[in-house]
Amino acid sequence: MNFDISPQLKAQLAAIRRFVESELYPLEPALLKEGFNAIKPRLNSLRQEVKERGWWLPHLPEDHHGMGLSLMNFGMVSEVLGGSILGHYVFNCQAPDAGNMEILLEFGTDAQKEQFLEPLLQGSVRSCFAMTEPEFAGSNPVRLGATATLDGDEWVISGHKWFTTAADGAQFAIAMVVTEEGDDIKPHARASQIIVPLNTPGFELVQNLSIMGERGEDYLSHAEVRFNDCRVPVSNMLGERGKGFSIAQTRLGPGRIHHCMRWIGICERALHLTCAYATQRQLTSDQTLADQQIIQSWLAESRAEIDAARLMVLRTAWLIDHQGARAARQEISTIKFYVAGVLQRVLDRALQVHGGLGMTDDTPIAFWYRHERAARIYDGPDEVHKLSLARTMLKPYRFRKDK
Ligand SMILES: Cc1cc2nc3c(=O)[nH]c(=O)nc-3n(C[C@H](O)[C@H](O)[C@H](O)COP(=O)(O)OP(=O)(O)OC[C@H]3O[C@@H](n4cnc5c(N)ncnc54)[C@H](O)[C@@H]3O)c2cc1C
Repeated sequence: MNFDISPQLKAQLAAIRRFVESELYPLEPALLKEGFNAIKPRLNSLRQEVKERGWWLPHLPEDHHGMGLSLMNFGMVSEVLGGSILGHYVFNCQAPDAGNMEILLEFGTDAQKEQFLEPLLQGSVRSCFAMTEPEFAGSNPVRLGATATLDGDEWVISGHKWFTTAADGAQFAIAMVVTEEGDDIKPHARASQIIVPLNTPGFELVQNLSIMGERGEDYLSHAEVRFNDCRVPVSNMLGERGKGFSIAQTRLGPGRIHHCMRWIGICERALHLTCAYATQRQLTSDQTLADQQIIQSWLAESRAEIDAARLMVLRTAWLIDHQGARAARQEISTIKFYVAGVLQRVLDRALQVHGGLGMTDDTPIAFWYRHERAARIYDGPDEVHKLSLARTMLKPYRFRKDK
């Protein structure tokens, strides 16, 4: 296992870091106080600049307008981008579009790629992924209520979804819906993925959910949506019938690396802000916050946890690059809950050190504290990943006992 990087990537990472710090950090106060739409024109011109510099779509191969990086190397870029709230969006690798691009690339027909993937790659449209439903436990996504039934050469889609991230302003959804029913159908083979343009009659964006006191805008929103007998052509099926669950799994392996490395970028920025604040916040005429041992202990704990998390994620990315996501299933589950936990602890310490200032939107810490609590829930809650890891660990022991 080797985490060395080429001199070329090293230079690119340094240049990307300078760009993120000089162009994106200064936009965050306006984002936090005036909202996403207030800075959208500036973001559009920065997206153009990123394209011109050859950094666009860092997660995709070069023949699809991307940077052509391995997953491990993309992870390193993702960490740098994660240092700003706006990084992934400006480089067009934000969730859920990045995952949708990957599955359209792998499972889309030529016509689907032309109609749906190409505009996503250009950055002229956004998309969303509609799987979770209020009425069913999302932790077990084989249980779904939304259906698609065939009527001539159309699928008729009906269902209720929520937490459809970024549906507000998106052009299409990839919807997980039940298409296969019957006693002989296995639970994992009931659902399919179907592409639904959001201007299809019957599609209803019920509301942007209020999450921790914020409704969010554009790609920073999470919607409740309804598909009221939406009709789409049969050709909008993504991949094969009944393969929705396995396509979703394909998306989640690399997707968890994307999230984990983004979270490590958030941790690094939060730790940097914490050190900077602690050293300048005067408690007495000769002592700052940074002179207090309890604060020093928190800083050391954060440093150690972030470094451990990074090594675990890079190792998992390396394994996926060399042996595929299936071989790294245990590691993927491990990093998902471990790094989400590190993120909560590092952000909590950062907020505490900033005192009242930490609760305001004068730093990005409170934004991340609100938004990233969800890291322990989305893409599989902690408990599901721990169960999956423990089950694998216990397998050989149970086997021995049976003998
Ligand atoms: C910010 C955010 C963005 C999201 N974006 C999307 C999106 O774009 N598209 C989409 O389709 N979905 C999205 N989701 C939904 C997300 O995937 C689900 O919330 C998640 O899968 C959990 O499902 P649930 O909310 O129904 O919780 P439930 O399944 O009802 O579980 C509730 C809690 O029970 C516990 N639990 C679950 N299973 C077990 C178990 N076996 N043993 C012990 N405890 C358990 C966990 O603590 C879990 O948090 C998003 C969620 C959030 C918060």
